[in-house]
Amino acid sequence: MRLILLGPPGAGKGTQAQRLVARHGIIQLSTGDMLREAVANGTPIGLKAKAVMDAGKLVSDDIVIGIVADRIEQPDAARGFILDGFPRTVPQAEALDSMLAEKGLKLDAVIEFKVDQTKLVERILKRAEETRARGEPVRKDDDPEVFKTRLEAFNRDTAVVAPYYAERGLLVAVDGMKPIDEVTRDIADVLETV
Ligand code: AMP
Repeated sequence: MRLILLGPPGAGKGTQAQRLVARHGIIQLSTGDMLREAVANGTPIGLKAKAVMDAGKLVSDDIVIGIVADRIEQPDAARGFILDGFPRTVPQAEALDSMLAEKGLKLDAVIEFKVDQTKLVERILKRAEETRARGEPVRKDDDPEVFKTRLEAFNRDTAVVAPYYAERGLLVAVDGMKPIDEVTRDIADVLETV
């Protein structure tokens, strides 16, 4: 199974991706995680991406497309994957189409998390508090001001990705404002139909 989880930052994509991993035994490919790892390891990509990420802006399509292309070549991606945080622009979506077409593969579904953006800031503050309470470092881009920039980037560049997949008959929506377990159930229901 090959899925995309689409929605603004803080919509719960990462949480649901982890549950899908556990349920379906496929891998989660989060470009945000991959970029954070590159930053932590000080790789050339990490060095380029760090300031952009800290500011809540989008890393260039070339960089992100490159890391996804490399990652889906890995043997553990052969059984399927959940893309979380990619594609975030139409050029990224087009590049993914070409990568999959070259391999003779297709997407099964694109799950759009519908959310109330005014409530997302509250949610992100809570996520930062919980992370701090666990004694873990809080993501720099979960700062409320940077979070607003991330939302703006979503509305400017990523909101057009949902219609892209709707036109291709792949888009299904879930209500991302429901409690986590309900969203998980709704996704399971949606996946029965694709
Ligand atoms: P995320 O963990 O998905 O919220 O991503 C964290 C940050 O990584 C974003 O704010 C961007 O700076 C960068 N990033 C992650 N995925 C992408 C992508 N597909 N395109 C551009 N930038 C990305």
